[in-house]
Amino acid sequence: MRENPSLMALDPMIENLLVLQDRDVRHDEIVRHLEDIPPRLAAEEKHIAAIEARFNVAREAHKALELKRRELEKQASQSEEQRNRFRTQQLAVKKNDEYAALEKQIEAAGVHIDELETQTIEVMLELDQSEISLKGKRAECDAEIARHRDAISAMQRQSAALKAELDGAKTAAEAARKKVSEDALASYIYVKSRVRRPPYVVPIEDQHCCGCHLKVSNDVIQQARVKGTITRCDSCGRIVYI
Ligand SMILES: [Zn+2]
Repeated sequence: MRENPSLMALDPMIENLLVLQDRDVRHDEIVRHLEDIPPRLAAEEKHIAAIEARFNVAREAHKALELKRRELEKQASQSEEQRNRFRTQQLAVKKNDEYAALEKQIEAAGVHIDELETQTIEVMLELDQSEISLKGKRAECDAEIARHRDAISAMQRQSAALKAELDGAKTAAEAARKKVSEDALASYIYVKSRVRRPPYVVPIEDQHCCGCHLKVSNDVIQQARVKGTITRCDSCGRIVYI
């Protein structure tokens, strides 16, 4: 009866290194994801602030129109009072030329009041439009902000889940580390610092390193066949096994 050659051949040292690699990579992934979250959260908050700032510009423009309307109404009521004063004065004057002069002022005040009223109506129409547009913008902004808030909530949930997983992952990686011999661990740590990106322990398949995909030398293949020794790819430096 033939045994499965892949199961038969695997060096226990390599097996332990592969377990360590799995757990170590998962641990590092969790740490990396956790580190990514705060800047992503900050970016979402920045988007929300930018949306509010954009809405504020529109709201300030609307407020300016309201101020303009109030100012026009104030001017109209002042002119109205002025005209009434002219009319009261007119009742008291005796001379025709004084009466006529006041009449002219009353007329001028009337023209001014008409102008102010026309302007007020224009501003009120603008205000109606602006109010509709402002409501639309508010709804748009709220929808956009809700999307960013959803993204923030999702990230917070992700962060909580990762934090919950982190301790277990750390313990698991430490346990795997303890099963690896000192020499193998030193090589693993060295390779990890050099290669930076997993995998760090890779098989040789068809004379090629599965990490860098380059052909390894015959010496490397010979050495990889010897159980209990660490062999590294002569191109990328990863720990290789057969
Ligand atoms: Zn390689």
